[in-house]
Amino acid sequence: MYIIIFIVAIIGLSFIQYKYFQIGLNLAGIQFNQKIGETVKEIKEDLFQRNELTYLVGTAIAKEDLNFKLSLDSLQDASIYFMDDFLRQKLLQKGVKIDFSFNLYGQDSTLYMQSKKVFSDNEKLLKYPVVLEGYLPDLMKSRVVLELQFQNVNRYFLSQLNGLTIPSIIFIVMIIVVILWVYRAFYLQNNLITTTNDFINNLTHELKTPVFAIGVATKILEEKSNEDQKPLISLIRAQVDKLKTQIDKVLEIGVIEEKKGFVKHEKLDIKPILSNIAANFKQQAALNNFTFNSRIQGDSLMILGDAYHIENAINSLLENASKYSEDHADISFSAFTEGKYLVIEVADKGIGIGSQDLNKIFDKYYRISVGDVHTVKGYGLGLHYVKRIVHLHKGSIEVQSKLNEGSTFIIKLPLL
Ligand code: ADP
Repeated sequence: MYIIIFIVAIIGLSFIQYKYFQIGLNLAGIQFNQKIGETVKEIKEDLFQRNELTYLVGTAIAKEDLNFKLSLDSLQDASIYFMDDFLRQKLLQKGVKIDFSFNLYGQDSTLYMQSKKVFSDNEKLLKYPVVLEGYLPDLMKSRVVLELQFQNVNRYFLSQLNGLTIPSIIFIVMIIVVILWVYRAFYLQNNLITTTNDFINNLTHELKTPVFAIGVATKILEEKSNEDQKPLISLIRAQVDKLKTQIDKVLEIGVIEEKKGFVKHEKLDIKPILSNIAANFKQQAALNNFTFNSRIQGDSLMILGDAYHIENAINSLLENASKYSEDHADISFSAFTEGKYLVIEVADKGIGIGSQDLNKIFDKYYRISVGDVHTVKGYGLGLHYVKRIVHLHKGSIEVQSKLNEGSTFIIKLPLL
């Protein structure tokens, strides 16, 4: 998808550049005509009077007219040279630096004089006839026309636009190179992430069997143990259960990220599920001696979703609320409707989250550490899982928190 957008953008950009280029060529043409028009006017004015140049030219062409029809003599050579120099200066004054040739015609296209430079390809020539007035036509007693000729004007225009075209081509190439470079880095990074994920998933899978075996063995031991050993064995069981839950979480996240359609989308009334979660947590609160309040509004709360994952997600939030509260936790759980949404809030008065960490806590493996020490155990997977599940239900999750004051996690899920 990115590649297609990139290719379309580059083609579009190149097309626009090409159009600008054409406009540039047209403008250069118009400007050229304007400059030649001004030059022609000045040439006409300068050649009107008898002056050194017109006198020299006049003598040379008049001599020719008087049947000096040998090869060009030095006088003609000199007048051609001076005329050429004069025209070149005039053009340069207007900023036109291009090869040219000229012819001086009389009545019936009699050729009086021709520049040393003669263009061969008559087709590509651009001709500007200048009808002279004043001294020369008076002397020759006929019409005298000075014809300016230019060849390859398009190449000249191009050379003028080079200041714009070459940089724009360079910049487009630079954009292409940078994008390809970024894409390559992205591709390599993605590969690395996939291999790391695969590795973690494989490792966790491998851990599952021994953990299961330890679980079974502990259960057997528990049955055979005497009263003294029981507390130790139940400690082992509790830790094994914890490890099992964490392993399942890692595996679950791996599956969620890889497989589409992993989360079911069933019509379900979530109200009893929420009530059940609240009832279970209330028991935990009583056991661990912390405060817990719940408030679930509405008769039925119909959504399209997966009860198992929603339950897991909410339990993760409640677990965090108690994990990240010091001493005596005070947790509240509420669910209510707001327009077309079901809002689920889990609030605590715990240690809170600093603003610099607020948008990072949902990242995979992200944990807030105080110094280099994590006082509470975890893998930084819980909130990542919650966010994935909420998004797979087309919902949103946000957090409001202040350090040392507490946090509130708000989930919004679309109601049916
Ligand atoms: P874990 O709890 O396993 O570290 P989570 O993804 O559940 O991973 O949470 C990520 C981080 O967000 C936690 O390490 C913790 O610092 C912070 N956090 C999560 N919930 C709370 C909360 N209710 N109060 C304060 N901090 C929280």
